[in-house]
Amino acid sequence: MHTDPDCLFCKIVSGRIPARKIHEDDELVAFHDINPAAPVHFLIVPREHIESLAEASEHHQALLGRMMLLAARLAPAQGANPGREGGFRIVINNGREGGQEVLHLHMHVMGGPRPWRRG
Ligand code: 5GP
Ligand code: ZN
Repeated sequence: MHTDPDCLFCKIVSGRIPARKIHEDDELVAFHDINPAAPVHFLIVPREHIESLAEASEHHQALLGRMMLLAARLAPAQGANPGREGGFRIVINNGREGGQEVLHLHMHVMGGPRPWRRG
């Protein structure tokens, strides 16, 4: 599996940089965003170093689906309110103009009572 020794999120995945992890399995790791934009704000990343969604291929189809399902499962567990009046937001920034700062594919999952600082 491809990893990049200089990548911040590869370092978090491997434990070389600490993070408040909330989930780990053989393919995915989830951890709290260091600068949360909402009462609930965590990131889901693949263990594999994929630079962005644009770099993902057919081979990653199941992995991308698992990221979505994990988001929906972890959001209420992390404090997002259930039902229509609650909910959560998923954001994947892609490339510099897409607002991506860390070049390792990640899904933002945000929720909790509004207003939020961003979005
Ligand atoms: P992007 O702008 O690339 O979509 O989002 C990167 C996110 O990573 C930002 O929301 C930022 O707060 C978060 N982040 C940056 N550095 C760290 C870190 O060292 N630890 C954690 N937990 N989050 C980080
Ligand atoms: Zn990486």
